[in-house]
Amino acid sequence: MPLPVSPEILVVLGTRPEAIKLFPLIQRLQDHPRLRPVVVTTGQHKELVDYVLETAGCEIAGDLGVGRPGLTLNQLSSSVIAGLDDFVSARYGPPPERISGRVREDHYPAGCIVHGDTSSAAAAAVAAFHLRIPVIHVEAGLRTGTTLSPFPEELNRQLVARIASFHAAPTRANVQNLVREGVDIGRTFVTGNTGIDALRWAAAREVPYGRPELAWLEDDATSPVVTVTAHRRENWGEGIANIARATRRLADAHPDVRFVVPVHPNPRVAQTVRDELDDVPAVTLTAPMEYHTFARLLARSTLVITDSGGIQEEAPALGVPVLVARTTTERTEGVEAGVLELVGTDADTIVASAGRVLTDPAARAAFSRQPNPYGDGHAAERIVAAAEHLVFNSPVPQTSGPGFVRAQVLEWAGFHRTDAVEGPSYVREPAAVDHVPADLEDVVIKPKSTVDPYDEVSE
Ligand code: UDP
Repeated sequence: MPLPVSPEILVVLGTRPEAIKLFPLIQRLQDHPRLRPVVVTTGQHKELVDYVLETAGCEIAGDLGVGRPGLTLNQLSSSVIAGLDDFVSARYGPPPERISGRVREDHYPAGCIVHGDTSSAAAAAVAAFHLRIPVIHVEAGLRTGTTLSPFPEELNRQLVARIASFHAAPTRANVQNLVREGVDIGRTFVTGNTGIDALRWAAAREVPYGRPELAWLEDDATSPVVTVTAHRRENWGEGIANIARATRRLADAHPDVRFVVPVHPNPRVAQTVRDELDDVPAVTLTAPMEYHTFARLLARSTLVITDSGGIQEEAPALGVPVLVARTTTERTEGVEAGVLELVGTDADTIVASAGRVLTDPAARAAFSRQPNPYGDGHAAERIVAAAEHLVFNSPVPQTSGPGFVRAQVLEWAGFHRTDAVEGPSYVREPAAVDHVPADLEDVVIKPKSTVDPYDEVSE
C-alpha cells in the first residue's frame, strides 16, 4: 500500500534576494488552509535572511548552518546537499518505498521549492531529486545563454531547470527559453515575478526611514522626488560620474525637485558620487537602505534614474518611470512595453529625458500605459494555486500564458498512473537505484508510463 504524501512543501533558501522573493510565497503557504511551508535556510546570509523573514512573519523550520565565510562553491554545494538530506531524514525518515498521489498529514513532503540561480538552490534541487521530492522552480527560465556569465548562476539556472518538475516563470519570454531547451510547455506556468509581490507588500508597510538625513521625507508628501542609484561595474569611472553630473544639473534646473541617492558602498562608486554631489542642497546622499525603506522610497518617487537590474523590474510595478543609465539591458520586455527608457550614461541625454518626465505629465503617463511585464503583484498567489492543483488536484488555476498540465508535472516527478483498489491514482515507485550499483547489471530501467492528462480522477 503506497504511503500518501503530506501537504508540507519544503522551501529552501540561503541569500537575501531569495528571502525577499520567496517571502510572499511563504506567507501565502502559511495562510493556506491545507498546504504548509517548511522553510529551511542554508545559513549563508543568516542575519539578513532572518531579518527579512521575521519582518514578513515567516517561520523558519530549520537552518543548515552553512554560513562559514570563504566556502568554495563546491564546499557550499556539498554542505547544502548533505544538510538537506539530514534535515529531511530527521523530519520525515528515509524516502518511502512507494508514494501515492493522495495527501494525508505527516508523511513525505509533497514538493521542494527553490528559487532562481544560486549554488544553494542548485544543490537543494539535486538533494531533493535524490530524496525523490518533486522540485518546484520559482523564477525559472531566465537565460543569458553564456554559462560563464553570470558565473555560476547561469549554469545553476539550467541545472535546476533539468531537475524541476514544475517551472514558475516570471514572463512568457522565460517560458520560451525553457521550451527551447526541451522543457514541456505543460510543466511551465507564467506567474510574474514574486519580487513584485514582495515590493508592493514592503512599500505599503511604510516602515520609518529611520535616518536623520531623510527626516524631511517623513513630513514632505508633495515635493517631486527623484531616486538615483548607480553601481554597475561597467559604469565605474566615467559612467557613474556622468550620472552624478546629470543629477547635479537636474537639481539646478528643477529647484522644486528633491533628489535621494543611496550611495553604493563600493569605494570606487562612493567616491565618485560624493565628489560630484556632496555640496548640492537638493540632493540627499544616504547609505544603502534597508529593503523595506527602499521600497517605500521607490513608491514615493516621481522618477527613478538607475543602472540597477532589480530596480528596473521593481519601480514600474509601483507605476514609477525608470530611466536606465546603461547602454544595454537584459530587461528588454520593459523597454518594449515602454515602462523603461534606456538612456545610457551621457549626461545630456539623461538631463533631457528626466526633464521631460518631470515637466510633461503626458511624457510621464507614457511610462505606465502598458502593464509591467515583470508581474502584477499576484505571482505568489498563482504559484500557490498551481501547487494546490498539483497536490490536491483542485481546479486548474486560471492560466497566465500557456498554462500547465498536472499529469505532465507528476510524471516528470516520477509518478505514474495506477489503478488501485480504491480507484486510479498516481503512484511513485522506488528509485531503480538507491546507491551506486556495484555492477551495472543491477540497474533496472523502468519503461516510462504514459499518462492521459485529460483522464484525471479527483482524489
Ligand atoms: N535595494 C535596497 N536598498 C538600496 C538599493 C537597492 O534594498 O539602497 C534593493 C532593490 O530594491 C533591489 C535590490 O536591492 O531589490 C537590487 O539591488 P542592486 O541595484 O544593488 O542590484 P542589481 O539588481 O543590479 O543586481
